[in-house]
Amino acid sequence: MSQRITILPETLTNKIAAGEVVERPASVIKELIENSLDAGATDISVEIAGGGRRRIRITDNGHGMSREDALLSLERHATSKIRVDSDLDTIQTLGFRGEALPSIASVSRFSLATRETGAPEGTEITVEGGRVRDVRACGMAAGTVITVEQIFFNLPARLKFMKSAETETGHVADVIARMSVSRPDVAFLCTSDERELLRLQRSDLQRRLAQVVGRESSPHLYRLHGKDDYAAITGFISGPALVRSGTQAIYTYINGRFIRDKVVQHAVMQAYRGVIDRGRYPVVALFIELPPGEVDVNVHPTKHEVRFRRQSVVHDAIQSALEEVLRSSPWLPEAHSAPTIPSGATGQVYRERIAAAAQASLSLPPRPQYRPQPADQPVPASTSPTVREPACPFVPEEPQPESSGYFSALSIIGQFHSEYILCQSGSDLVIIDQHAASERVAYQLLKQQCRSGSVESQRLLFPETVELSFSEVATAARFNEALAGIGFELEPFGGATVMLSAVPRLVAEKEPALLIRDILAELDQIGTSSAFNDVLESLLSRIACHSVIRGAHPLESRQISQLLQSMDQTDFAASCPHGRPVSHVITLAELQKIFKRT
Ligand code: ADP
Ligand code: MG
Repeated sequence: MSQRITILPETLTNKIAAGEVVERPASVIKELIENSLDAGATDISVEIAGGGRRRIRITDNGHGMSREDALLSLERHATSKIRVDSDLDTIQTLGFRGEALPSIASVSRFSLATRETGAPEGTEITVEGGRVRDVRACGMAAGTVITVEQIFFNLPARLKFMKSAETETGHVADVIARMSVSRPDVAFLCTSDERELLRLQRSDLQRRLAQVVGRESSPHLYRLHGKDDYAAITGFISGPALVRSGTQAIYTYINGRFIRDKVVQHAVMQAYRGVIDRGRYPVVALFIELPPGEVDVNVHPTKHEVRFRRQSVVHDAIQSALEEVLRSSPWLPEAHSAPTIPSGATGQVYRERIAAAAQASLSLPPRPQYRPQPADQPVPASTSPTVREPACPFVPEEPQPESSGYFSALSIIGQFHSEYILCQSGSDLVIIDQHAASERVAYQLLKQQCRSGSVESQRLLFPETVELSFSEVATAARFNEALAGIGFELEPFGGATVMLSAVPRLVAEKEPALLIRDILAELDQIGTSSAFNDVLESLLSRIACHSVIRGAHPLESRQISQLLQSMDQTDFAASCPHGRPVSHVITLAELQKIFKRT
């Protein structure tokens, strides 16, 4: 019998491990900064040359290492951070795998110089491609200096994947930025080819964040402070005036560790739904503190991914912490309290208003005659397909409950161009986009209709088949009841196909098959039951948009004041469901400047 299997030599296993941990200069820097932070450093300096491809040097003032520890730190699975199995459940440090140093040293020309506080001299070890070449004493300040030169010199395949020095420098700056946000109490300095790239003094989170995302962002950041028995969620989040075109300024941390997580990101974006436009992303620094046993960071060697024990609880905690801040619309000119939905006796009036909104949305063109309503689904009188042009679709004829809030307190000047409402608030001129405002109100009212379970379903005369992925089919089965609750009727049709036989009446004319596919794909990705409600919201905002009148439309002053009142009773009053601003303020000072009165 021949022997086919051999145990690989350590230089090779280290290289294999390096394949996972060391992707590019930025990943080396991430690992080394983590080590410096774990060593208690308060000052970390990073120098790179050639985007880090030629040289990386990290100097810290942490506790340093003895000669024995320094030699051991280069062995695979050598760590000072955990000792026994159970430590894995209570990890408090950024590192714990004991892999970074040997991996980095195996794919570069590496040197480690370190001196423990109080030790008479330091130790310098040089390693080349994973082999120790030299160990000697050296004089140096307490702390550790690690130099990594010619990364991947012995891994030509990897070398080919490195990008230009500029691109690699960009990645390095990103890594330092996101790590620095997690530790504003630590000073960071980064130079690239001897030019200063970042200089971050010790400070607090708000200032650090402003330094990293741009000083102009500061006035648009709002403090977040949520805590319950399970999770603490703190940080800063931006209002609608500060957005980015990508997720680059969404910094999320679990127990101090930067992570990229679908569930967390989804929760953040859900909270912003209706506040900012689709395709726009907020600036967020979110710190989530969970009991260590509730989150597993040992998922991937780079530790960027995590698994939550209770994923949907975490999702909902994050979403509601953000919503609490956003709901109070702190960016409105005069901060006003969270909107009030009338309760108790006035609840009836509110329900009527909901009914009025539902009716308004039905004033769209009638559905074609070839889709008759089957006898078992009676058509409520209000849904008869007559085209009607309501003066102001969401405002009921009944008297309004008195509400006090920013918008109802405005004094109305009039309407401009049949599209904008002009008002005065103190010395401010307030301009309101009536379409955006009514859309916002209609959306909120539809949401209520949904919560009270009064969504109407319409049977399709010709049921449609919808092709899905297998996991989406499983998702459809799992959420079958919830989907039925909003009017979708789905049945398995063999393989990865389902049959769509009924849809919510309000979307019957709007390619329901496409819609259900979107909904299932989103549900499938997240997989929490809370996600269902979130998907629902996007559906509602689409309906709302179509349910209100577009373009110019004259309004009577009574209708204007009703609209203003409804706005105060609406969450997130400062933007329409698509995030377009609802109102804009011109101050007296600004006007005086225009007329050169100052
Ligand atoms: P891990 O961080 O997962 O323990 P590493 O390979 O990154 O594994 O580091 C191995 C060990 O070397 C660490 O556990 C730590 O004791 C020591 N070490 C690494 N970098 C430093 C540093 N900058 N200062 C002090 N000790 C360090
Ligand atoms: Mg480490």
